[in-house]
Amino acid sequence: MDRRPPRPDKPSSDAARQLRAAAEALAGAAPAAALPAPTEIGHELQVHRIELEMQNEELRRTQAALEAARDRYLDLYDFAPVGYVTLDAEGLVSQANLTAATMLGTDRATLLGRRFVGRVAPADRDRWIRHAQALRERGEPRRVELALLGPDGQRFEAQLDGVRAVCDDRDGSPPVLRITITDIGERKRAEAELRLAATAFESQEGMMITDAQGVIARVNTAFTRITGYSAVEAVGRGARLLQSGRHDAGFYAQMWESLHRNGTWQGEIWNRRKSGEIYPQWLTITAVPDDDPAVVRYVGTMQDISLRKAREEEIARLAYYDPLTGLPNRRLMKDRLHQALAISARSQREGALMFIDLDRFKAINDTLGHAQGDVLLQRVAQRLTGCVRAGDTVARPGGDEFVVMLAADLSTAPVRAAGQAQLVGEKILAELHRPYLIGGHRWHGSASIGIALFGEHVITVDELLRRADQAMYQAKAAGRNTLRFYDAAIQQALQQRSALEAQLQAAIGHGEFMLHYQKVVGRDEHLLGAEALVRWQHPQRGLVAPNEFITLAEDAGLMPALGAWVLDAACAQLAAWAADPATAGLTLSVNVSAWQWREPHFVALVLDALARHGARADRLKLELTESQLIENIDGTVTMMQALKAHGIGLSLDDFGTGYASLDYLKRLPLDQMKVDRSFVQDAVTDARAQAIVHAIVDLGRNLGLTVVAEGVETRAQRDLLAGQGCHAFQGELYGRPVPAQDLYRAARRGVVA
Ligand code: C2E
Ligand code: MG
Ligand code: MG
Repeated sequence: MDRRPPRPDKPSSDAARQLRAAAEALAGAAPAAALPAPTEIGHELQVHRIELEMQNEELRRTQAALEAARDRYLDLYDFAPVGYVTLDAEGLVSQANLTAATMLGTDRATLLGRRFVGRVAPADRDRWIRHAQALRERGEPRRVELALLGPDGQRFEAQLDGVRAVCDDRDGSPPVLRITITDIGERKRAEAELRLAATAFESQEGMMITDAQGVIARVNTAFTRITGYSAVEAVGRGARLLQSGRHDAGFYAQMWESLHRNGTWQGEIWNRRKSGEIYPQWLTITAVPDDDPAVVRYVGTMQDISLRKAREEEIARLAYYDPLTGLPNRRLMKDRLHQALAISARSQREGALMFIDLDRFKAINDTLGHAQGDVLLQRVAQRLTGCVRAGDTVARPGGDEFVVMLAADLSTAPVRAAGQAQLVGEKILAELHRPYLIGGHRWHGSASIGIALFGEHVITVDELLRRADQAMYQAKAAGRNTLRFYDAAIQQALQQRSALEAQLQAAIGHGEFMLHYQKVVGRDEHLLGAEALVRWQHPQRGLVAPNEFITLAEDAGLMPALGAWVLDAACAQLAAWAADPATAGLTLSVNVSAWQWREPHFVALVLDALARHGARADRLKLELTESQLIENIDGTVTMMQALKAHGIGLSLDDFGTGYASLDYLKRLPLDQMKVDRSFVQDAVTDARAQAIVHAIVDLGRNLGLTVVAEGVETRAQRDLLAGQGCHAFQGELYGRPVPAQDLYRAARRGVVA
């Protein structure tokens, strides 16, 4: 605040009075000199007058110079940026400049003759009195800071510099105090603000100031606490020192874009502490522009949110997980079920929900106590988790109940899916039946499992849970330590399946299989060869078709054994044909399942079968089904190349029912492609099917493959396909699959149809 006074028209003060008196004394001294004799008088007088005038002139100039100097002095004194007051021995104001009067909110006349202490803020008066006392006694200059009263009695912070002086115009008079008053309110406020800023900078939040290039200029203590870098280590280094490497360049580009456009950015960011630990923080960056627009500083405020994150995770864990076992609770389980039902509805694949209830759980609580009961629940949770795959869910909805949800990637066929679920269920039963060692006691437990499948039939989560629960009660009723399916038909089909599986296993040992042969006929109606199709001569059921047992054999792991038997039988047949001129030129196609292609020794197995029977490799064709080839295509290609090198033919079966993948066609070293019978049978009546067959035949021919149409039942179908360029035909038009001797007979007779 400028407390300097306005400039008055006529300055007046003690000093001015003194100057004026001196000047008047000088001017008045000249007329008082003695006079000479009358004659000389004229001349003398003349001389005197001249001298006198000169002196007067001199005096006037001196006086003018003095007045000018006085004015300058008065100006300096009155308009100085600080206030001056002189206090007499009683502490009364004897002199004051205009600045002092203005500072103290009064005019000079009012100030003069008043006690200065009255202008000091009441709280500081004692201090002032002691200070003034010391000034008078010790004589050396002293400084004090205190509050004075300004205009309207408002306090203002002032610095008073005092010195004891002797007032020379009044000899012998007691010394006075000359005081300079400086208004330091502004400075104090700035200091306070700086202190405030410094306190704010040293807040709980980490702070860092960088220049426009991101070089760290200043950091606070919290920064050091959070990042591990001391101020000395951080200052002068680029802010990228803190980067975790978890964000890509795009992330930082977006941050700078926001800073340039809005002057600010905030968000969650992963940074790295000096220790190497990566942690999440909430970062706010503000651009602070300078007067010079080229100079920008960035202030970064960071909060370590790893604790908050951990707490959030803990809260989520408590909300969704069972604290005892760490498994998903009922809420999360239902959530996952909702998702699984949606996925299953889309993919048409079955999923399964198992409701698992521990048998006699109450007994452990009663005999060993609740704490041991808790331990058992934890062990059960561990064992259950070990029984399922990563995508499946094990949950504990409450008490001694557990739920296992098999992700919706089971088979699309319900009975097959039930078989898959049953396998898992049986594994769980076996696991939970193993004895537990709890608190030094051996505990024998078991469980009852109810299973409900969910697939294409849309049901709600609650309904699904109800079904599994109901099935679980059936398992309990059936004597515990067992599993039951909700769907009675499924349950029955499964039981049949299990029985069939056992019989199938035995059938391989008992040699209950035989091959039937279906003709493959060329465009000129000549017999080219046959396809071997396996049949099971069931002791009670009679001849069983492969559709009923091939997938079962695959699921039960029996396919390698069955497949080896088929190959062996086919090679024996080829060798037998070779001995008869009527059949020596025929080829024989054998179906090979995906399981067999996965066997590492498959190539050796085929070559061995050929060699053992002395059959020609170039008469054997292996059929592989397109839809079974998804896995390990590279391994299959290698095997196929090895087989092809021995002259064995390779055919892609059921083309069009899988992915009709052009990639497979390109990569597999094929000789032949078989158009699936579903297209063949519709081709005559359905224009679209016809168009598809046409495209498939064209594709095969262009790839240099022999194209065989399967399931040809009518002449119309045969003619249509022949017209489209098919090379060979197979189907009931030429005959169903028949035993070897029937094919012989026909071949010998040269009969094709
Ligand atoms: P596939 O290899 O496509 O065999 C052709 C199937 O179509 C045979 O059924 C055959 O009887 C049937 N079929 C032939 N002509 C006609 C027709 O004109 N109309 C109709 N509706 N059907 C016809 P099958 O013998 O029941 O075999 C079914 C499938 O079982 C075979 O399909 C093949 O994928 C599989 N399979 C058969 N034998 C074996 C084997 O030894 N090993 C393996 N891995 N799979 C086999
Ligand atoms: Mg086939
Ligand atoms: Mg086929």
